[in-house]
Amino acid sequence: MGLTHRPPLDRRFWELKGYHFMDLVSPCLNLGTAFFVLKHLEERWAAVGYSLSRVDAVLKEVSRRCKVTLARRPAPAGQPLPPEEEARLAGRILSGRILLLEEVGRALAENGVRVTAELADLLHYLYLQGECELRPAVGFDAQGVPKCNRCGQGDKLYRSSCGACGSTHCYVCEGCLELGEARTCRALYARPGAERAGMFPCRTVSPVLPFSLTRAQEEAALQARTFVEEGKCPRCLIWAACGAGKTEVAYGALAAALSRGKEVLYTCPRRETTKEIYRRLQQAFPGVEMTILHGESGSKYAPAQLVAATTHQVLRCYRRFDLIILDEVDAFPLAGDGRLYYGLERSLRPGGQILYMTATPPPELAAQARRRRLPVIYLPARPHGYPLPEPQIILARGLRRPMGRLPRPVVECLRLSLNGDGASLLIFVPAVDLVAQVVDWLLECREFEGLGDWVRGCHAALPERETVLAAFRRGEFPVMVTTTLLERGITLPRLNVMVLFAHHRRIFDQNTLVQIAGRAGRTSSFPQGKVWLVADRITPEMAEACRIIRSFNRLAFQRGYLRAVERRQ
Ligand SMILES: [Zn+2]
Ligand SMILES: [Zn+2]
Repeated sequence: MGLTHRPPLDRRFWELKGYHFMDLVSPCLNLGTAFFVLKHLEERWAAVGYSLSRVDAVLKEVSRRCKVTLARRPAPAGQPLPPEEEARLAGRILSGRILLLEEVGRALAENGVRVTAELADLLHYLYLQGECELRPAVGFDAQGVPKCNRCGQGDKLYRSSCGACGSTHCYVCEGCLELGEARTCRALYARPGAERAGMFPCRTVSPVLPFSLTRAQEEAALQARTFVEEGKCPRCLIWAACGAGKTEVAYGALAAALSRGKEVLYTCPRRETTKEIYRRLQQAFPGVEMTILHGESGSKYAPAQLVAATTHQVLRCYRRFDLIILDEVDAFPLAGDGRLYYGLERSLRPGGQILYMTATPPPELAAQARRRRLPVIYLPARPHGYPLPEPQIILARGLRRPMGRLPRPVVECLRLSLNGDGASLLIFVPAVDLVAQVVDWLLECREFEGLGDWVRGCHAALPERETVLAAFRRGEFPVMVTTTLLERGITLPRLNVMVLFAHHRRIFDQNTLVQIAGRAGRTSSFPQGKVWLVADRITPEMAEACRIIRSFNRLAFQRGYLRAVERRQ
């Protein structure tokens, strides 16, 4: 029993196998519905035992359950099968991927493979041979609830009338729309990664670095290497302090996998980070076949042993990688996004391993780590060997809005930053509309009147935000007010940070606070950057963020990763 878009092809295939009788179940259904009906038929027949005399009764029963009227008719005569050689080539290109029909077409073109047969027929022939899996891009679960088979989720589907299949119940998935339209009547073709034997050579691969690792990094890198070499645990977490250099630690795991001829994926949620990582990987592992995948990358289907990709692209991979390194596991847009975890698991070969890396693990991973279900490799110290700046909490009772006089302690912090440290200051606020208000509030402060244009605001929706950011980086003004937009990704040599209205628990959760605090003290020229949390009260999130940072420093001290002098201060 199976599905087909061209019955004569199936007829011929089975005739060659010695079957001379074939029935079609009509009417012609769209793929999603056909798949659903097929599952029910298979299930029913498995239960009652297949026999010709029961066919009509079972069809009737399944018709009732699936709400379509099914009837039997004889299959048309067979037609010649597509060329074997072309099917083999298509199969090789599809290997390790899950793709829509037009994507398979692009993959063939990109690899210079030309075929004469119709692509859908070629892929169907592979399906008949058991060489590729076929499923509707949007299918239904056993209860008939629609679910996307590419990104695995069901809440971002909308129903439409479809010109292609004529159904009024053709569902489209909005969750993965940027990868092309997954809908009920379109097929996804999937094929597990090819047998690896001999595909990539086994040789000793060691990363080439322009600097030497610190002891903290070296020890963590060795643990990462052992994780891969032993292959005992399926998952592991590198929990690193912000700015501690976790990528270099992951190289330990990478080198171990590459040395064994395994296929590796390094994935991050954001395109810019992915490009940056790709550049670094190229330098660290020259001679390794490598490719990059993101929304705008030109070539998407080239073979490679090491792939750097945005996490979205992972939704196109199928049982391909032995090791997946997932960087910034907590970062937008990955956090709380079930579909990307789904894609990751699916792109792993059976028995493959995932290495998560982050400074701020999402709650579910942190909980697993606490319960010792997930092994953790800690990297608690920055390369410069100074402790992480611990946040100071500044209580300003009744501080709810930017109005009235600037609280005295805030003025003190500003003065210390501007006059004492000569450092730039980033002030984080919990809402976009507060940015301009806080800028005005600060400018009203008499104390700094002579400084001119010393504070400006910046947020995601600001048209000139790139210009403002660049000017701040160049040091043209010392204080910038912003939203959590800049929580990561900004590194300035001399920087203090302040979180204003830090009691906003929804915006400033513990991970956001740890990331913000992680902006300070990143360079050895100014490792003592300050972190001020200005709040109406101490929230559990603030307390937890401080606890996490303190525990990193304690661990780094116990392991002897910190400069002795600095610790005594
Ligand atoms: Zn989807
Ligand atoms: Zn349709």
